[in-house]
Amino acid sequence: MSNRYIQHYESLLNDLENQSLRRKLKVSDSPSAPVMKINGQDVLTFCSNDYLGLANHPEIASAMIDGVNIYGGGSGASHMISGHYTAHDQLEQALAATQAKHIPNVKGLFFSTGYMANMAAITGISAGLGENQTMSIFSEELNHASLIDGVRLASKQNNAKVFVYPHQDLGALQKLLSEDKSRFKLIVTDGVFSMDGNIAPVDQLLALAEKYDALLLIDDAHGFGVLGDSGHGILDSFKIDAGNTSANRVIYIGTLGKAAGLSGAFIAAHKHLTEWILQKGRAYIYTTASPPAIAHGLLKSLELIQQEQYRNALHQNIAYWRKHLKLHKWQLVKSSTAIQPIVIGQNEDALRVAEALYKKNIWVPAIRPPTVPAGTARLRITLSASHTREQIDELINAISEVEHAF
Ligand code: PMP
Repeated sequence: MSNRYIQHYESLLNDLENQSLRRKLKVSDSPSAPVMKINGQDVLTFCSNDYLGLANHPEIASAMIDGVNIYGGGSGASHMISGHYTAHDQLEQALAATQAKHIPNVKGLFFSTGYMANMAAITGISAGLGENQTMSIFSEELNHASLIDGVRLASKQNNAKVFVYPHQDLGALQKLLSEDKSRFKLIVTDGVFSMDGNIAPVDQLLALAEKYDALLLIDDAHGFGVLGDSGHGILDSFKIDAGNTSANRVIYIGTLGKAAGLSGAFIAAHKHLTEWILQKGRAYIYTTASPPAIAHGLLKSLELIQQEQYRNALHQNIAYWRKHLKLHKWQLVKSSTAIQPIVIGQNEDALRVAEALYKKNIWVPAIRPPTVPAGTARLRITLSASHTREQIDELINAISEVEHAF
């Protein structure tokens, strides 16, 4: 028997369906790879964040198996209780080492997910600042949902004052910073914007942080492993030097479920900032540590990320795609990262295009509001080092055909 809640939610779901906003899961029977088996059918995918093709790398899989042999399955508890193992500790040191050229006295802290790292970093750093002291947070308009949620929670839990500045508008940010009288300021930004693929001007943001005596939190979920000469992410690509006076203002967050191929995330910041987040970040403290075998596997991912071959293959694929795709009605967003969106506009149109591609066994997700602003529904195409030229050609040809027929 249905009660009124069941009926109410059914009608809400129908509304979503009617607005082309109802999200649907596809179930895969095979590992993450350019070609995946969905309902028994081979599908060419351009939607994963496995940018370097490491998610199914045999050396990582075998490192995880070694990890299971050493540590067994689960961690058994939160990090603070009894869930922190040698593999977690080694990984935190290896992760911190990736940012040591860019952040002085850097300390790493490993999390099960990027979502939690962002929540913990923002709520932790704005907690317990002293009697009647609160943080003013300056948050980029197009920040990832996990940053937005972290900022909202900081506002609720820690009375943080929140200012949202328009996308890439440093003039507006500067005005907000200059007008704010608070002693504690935090600028929060994505490194690579997840639905556009463009890059935050980290050097200029850091200069503003210095000028207005603020901290700068950068979520480099899509840059870690992809950007920089050593693949160490956005600070590496901007050549931020640990010797700069402003470098200890950075709270760097990298995630490990994308280019690193497994799951998890980390904070790398000056040891006193990281340690405070560890003390006060509830999303760190009150959750079970992820299995140590994952940390053990991630140590292998970090080794592979340092090798240029994966990053070079990705960047060659990006250049090839941008050179050969020719669009007439739709717009390819300007992006030098693995995220290569095509803006279609209306939700139902984006969905129709994605469905037309899927009929050709090509899987590209249609991203709609609230993930992107209304009227900018898009195909979020992501490229990987593991795509072949032929596969990219297949996508280009399919998009041309669908656009022509649209
Ligand atoms: N930040 C950004 C910019 C992201 O795109 C994502 C995931 N899509 C996250 C954080 C969350 O990371 P995780 O998937 O590890 O929770």
